Amino acid sequence: MIRIGLTGGIGSGKSTVAAMLRDAGYPVVDADQVARDNMEPGSSVLQEVAEVFGTDILDDNGVLDRAELARRAFSSEEQTQKLNGITHPAIRRESERRLAQFEKEGARAAVYDMPLLIELGLDESMDVTVVVDADAEERVRRLVRSRGLEEQDARNRIARQIDDATRKARADVVIDNNGPLTELEPQVNELVEYIEKML
Ligand code: ATP
Repeated sequence: MIRIGLTGGIGSGKSTVAAMLRDAGYPVVDADQVARDNMEPGSSVLQEVAEVFGTDILDDNGVLDRAELARRAFSSEEQTQKLNGITHPAIRRESERRLAQFEKEGARAAVYDMPLLIELGLDESMDVTVVVDADAEERVRRLVRSRGLEEQDARNRIARQIDDATRKARADVVIDNNGPLTELEPQVNELVEYIEKML
């Protein structure tokens, strides 16, 4: 099975491209969804997080108080790394399991939509690395308009990520999403043709 790693900065259009690839017939593992599922009540990952950050981040039903965890985990670089040290390997394991499941079900190609694909070096285990690219200013506009983020918050989040040049340097395919969706579609179609040739 061809593994297609899909990444890009916040608000670049990863989910939009992932949806188009799903429509083209490729199943998608969404790393953000995996991260949320890993924090469901009763999960072993959440248990581990609670042991490190305090069981009082869980309510009586075992539901995580996200704001409280964020306060504790983002209080220092060391605490953040502690959290990432638990969650990142867990996301990696569960994503791998889901991709293997698609393969078992007979998928010829599958997409891994992962914001941290390059940061965590997971692009190395992909057959194709696709980077969705859009200028920071355009991403800020989209994040403010459709996600309701404050402009400064959007800028801060972008600034905390790896820079676009580093990301693009690791790409096999760069999709330019600066234009309207009508300019995105033909590029995704081209990507599908490229993948089909690999099969
Ligand atoms: P995140 O990193 O936050 O998960 P993302 O990279 O998955 O974001 P999307 O959710 O696909 O990005 O896109 C961000 C927003 O911009 C969405 O509301 C989406 O509908 C919109 N968008 C994406 N591409 C375009 C485009 N070409 N023109 C206009 N709006 C777009």
